[in-house]
Parts: sequence; structure tokens; C-alpha cells
Amino acid sequence: MRTRSIWLTLTLLALLTAAPSASPQQKQKPGRPGARSAADVRLDGLKAEVAREIDGLQVLTQQMVDSLFSFGEPGFQEFETKRYCTAILREHGFAVEEDVAGMPTGWLASWGSGKPVIALGSDVDGLLETSQKPGVLEHAPLVEGAPGHGEGHNSGIPLSITAAIALKRVMEREKIGGTIKVWPGVAEELIAGKAQFVKAGVFDGVDAVLFSHVSSGFGVSWGAASGTGLVSVEYTFTGTSAHAGGAPWGGRSALDAVELMDVAWNFRREHLRPSHRSHSVITNGGGQPNVVPPTASVWYYFREIDYPHIKELHELGDTMAKAAAMMTGTTVSSRLLGSAWPQHFNKPVAEATYANIERVGMPSWSDDDQAFAKAVQRLVKAREQGLSTEVGKLGQPVKPEDNRGGGSDDIGDVSWTVPTITLRYPANIPGLPGHHWASAIAMATPVAHKGVTAGAKVEAMTALDLLLKPELVKQAWEYFRNEQTKETTYQPLIGPGDKPAVWLNEKLMRELRPTMQKFYYDPARYKTYLEQLGIPYPPK
Ligand SMILES: [Zn+2]
Repeated sequence: MRTRSIWLTLTLLALLTAAPSASPQQKQKPGRPGARSAADVRLDGLKAEVAREIDGLQVLTQQMVDSLFSFGEPGFQEFETKRYCTAILREHGFAVEEDVAGMPTGWLASWGSGKPVIALGSDVDGLLETSQKPGVLEHAPLVEGAPGHGEGHNSGIPLSITAAIALKRVMEREKIGGTIKVWPGVAEELIAGKAQFVKAGVFDGVDAVLFSHVSSGFGVSWGAASGTGLVSVEYTFTGTSAHAGGAPWGGRSALDAVELMDVAWNFRREHLRPSHRSHSVITNGGGQPNVVPPTASVWYYFREIDYPHIKELHELGDTMAKAAAMMTGTTVSSRLLGSAWPQHFNKPVAEATYANIERVGMPSWSDDDQAFAKAVQRLVKAREQGLSTEVGKLGQPVKPEDNRGGGSDDIGDVSWTVPTITLRYPANIPGLPGHHWASAIAMATPVAHKGVTAGAKVEAMTALDLLLKPELVKQAWEYFRNEQTKETTYQPLIGPGDKPAVWLNEKLMRELRPTMQKFYYDPARYKTYLEQLGIPYPPK
């Protein structure tokens, strides 16, 4: 028995040394063993090397995921997130540009020189009203009424930074040319950052964008994606104030105009295309009932699946606002707060990404991770399926007639500027409601940490494909020029005069930040955020 186990160990060691890139999930291509070129063999070895680097960075990755979770900053208020991320990038030798695209929380990090230029990005903002303690099986806000990471945007830029640091180390060692950039999706929940980045020329000279987004599965798609693009528009009505009890006839209520516009829009809704989605909130409805509101505002998202229909909805909104103003003897003005193009992803880069997803495979979830996931699913009354254990399929283009609408992401604007893909990495639990405190529960636990490590490997491996195979960059641009943009030309939904709406969430954070700061994660004192909060994992 003893001899046999020694032989087994020796054989295993020999296998590992001979094929450093072999991983259990790796698909073997049929064909002669000698069919692979020396370049392929080298690339294979480098992918194994970058994956090892990423495994070695797991503590930093976990600290970044936990830190961003603890900051919980909403759109345009990602100041702590910026300070923290740019400090890490500078420490690792990246040059950082700040105040990018007229946004105080915008930044762009770069390292390396020459072509190709690969830009790694992910969203960084939190969501209002989703403050939540991680790893707790009930609604338990860290700070009552505060924003939090109820979508999981705390995990994406840690993924990009991990991949970028690992890539830089391998590129330096192996003298690989090219430039790596890292950029944040500022205010994605407001759909307000990326079109401004495009307008400011952040992606000029970039060869490919590897974007990533949190998911419960591991996947990527190419072609037209399902979902919508949108314009985000705020209408402000101005009337005349008056004593609502004493002399209401002297007043003209701006709130009446808001209400009439909302009523009209909701009647018209029946006659809009099924692919459309629209929703609004009243951001100013007046002060108190006995003062006729002299000003009132309503904020609309108008969503559709292509540019002409988004423009049509926007014009319809403008018409209704004008009509409501006429009916009430008020005046109206509007401002564009954000916009997004529908998304279209690059075929050759998606295929390369997918091969790397298959190679990396799903994270190895522990029994504790699975038990935790099922407990959260039980909590939200979702099917108790646990965590996914298999990677998804390569997503195919969605035909317009099959696109039933849905959410938007302003990565759409980037995807029409440069060959782009979105890597969906498995850092959250399947079946959660989304944009909800329950979707934050797993986002500072081992589920998120493992998912980000797996995602970073895929992103870094795909970057290596682009850095070392010039034909892949060429094919990416051929697809972009000859197929994607053959009949559709990108025309921004924002105009030259539309400035980023950086004032959004400012007042809220002025009030809440002092309380939220008490919950910032301190990696110098605690191994994990769960440890800092004294929360057991898995929950008892
Ligand atoms: Zn998102």
C-alpha cells in the first residue's frame, strides 16, 4: 500500500509538472497531441500562471469585496470606494487619473504601454434602502434607511483589480507588451455614468473592454442582449404659490401638473409596445397641504429595446409634460439625468471568454456555502436549489421580436463604442429578488469571495488571449465593424450639454455618511467583515 501511494504521489507530481495548465474542468480538444502550436502551449502555461497569481491574491480580493460592501455608497457618491480602490491600484504600480468625465467619483487606472489596450471595468455603486448585514437571515440594516449593496456591485471592481494586478505581474515577468486599464461603472443604478465616459473619450484607443457583472451563474453572451436601453428624465413644473385655504384661486399648482402627467402616462401605457417599460417617482411634491406647491418634479425612466423607440418615448414624455403644464397654467422644464443604449456584445471575445469559463469552472462551494444559500432561498421563498454547480451556456443573440424588455445597463453605450463583453460571475445566490436587501446577504461572505476569484481568473485569461493573439483583436473589430455596426450607428442619447447628474444622492449621503462610517470594514483588525460584525458563518 505504501509503495502504491508513493507511486501515486510521484505520478501526480509528474503530471502537474508536465502540464501546469491542466485543470480538472478543462476540455480536451480532439486531434493529434502535436497539433497545438508553441504559441498555444505558451499561452496555456501563462493562463495557469495568472490563475495561480489570483489564488495568491485571495486575501486582498476578500478585503476589497468586504470593504466596498461596508461603504455601501450610492450613485455619484462613491468617494470612499474611489479613495480605497485607487490607493490599491497606485500601490501596485498603476497610474491613476481622477475626476474623469466631469465626475468627482470617476477615475481611470492604467499600466503598461502600447497595443493592445484592454480595459477592465465593473459597476461600483450601491442602491438606496438596501443596507443589510451580511450573512444574517432576516432584514437587518447596518444603518436604518441607508443605501447598501442590494445588487452586489461591491464585487465587480475587486474582480477587475485582482485580474489587473495578476496580469501585470505575468506581463512584467514574461515581457508581454500592451496596456491594462481599470475603470469604474459610476452611478450605474442611475444609468448615468458610462455614456459620459464614452463622451469624454475614455475608450478612445481601447481595443477591447472586458466588463463584468455579479450574477449567480457563470456566463457570457454575444450579439444583441435581452433587456432595454433608456433615458432617465426629470420634469420640473413651476406654478404660483397661494394660501390653499384662503385664496387657492390665486395659485397654480405644480403638483397638479405632475399628477396629470402621471395619469396621462398611465392611460397611454396600454397603447405602448409590450417591450416598453416605464416608471416614475415624484422627487418634489410640494411642502405642506396648505401651501399651493409652486414647484414639483417627477422623474421618469423610459425604456425600450432600440434607439428609435427610446427617442419616441422621450418625445411622448415631453409632449405629456407640456400638455400637463398647459392644463394647469404652469410651465415645465426637463433635464436628462442618464441614458443607456441597449447592449450588444462581441462574438469573438465572448467565445474566448466562454472557453476560459469552461476552463476555470464553478467555484468549489463548501457544504456550509450550500446550506447558507438554501437558508437565504427559504427566507425569500425561492426554490431551495442552493448554489449553481455548473457553468452556463454561451448566450446567443436575442431577436428583437423575442426581446420582452427588462432592465438596462449603460454598458450598452460602451458596447457600441469598442468591442465589449459582460462576464457574469457566480458571486450571489440564485433566485433572489434583485435590487433588494436580501440580495446583499451573500455579498460579503465566502460565496462572493469565491465567485470573484473565479471571475478574475476568467477575465485575466481572456485578457491574455487578447494580448497574445493579435488575430483575436482583429476578429473582434471585424465583427464590430462588419456585423454589429453594419446597419446600426451609435448616436448618444445624451447631448454635448448634458452634464453628469453628480448632485444626485448628495444630500442623503451628507446626512447618513457619519453613521455609515462607523460600519466601515477595518482589514487591519479583522480577517473578514463577518468577523468584525461578530456574525457566524454559516448562520446558526
Ligand atoms: Zn448592476
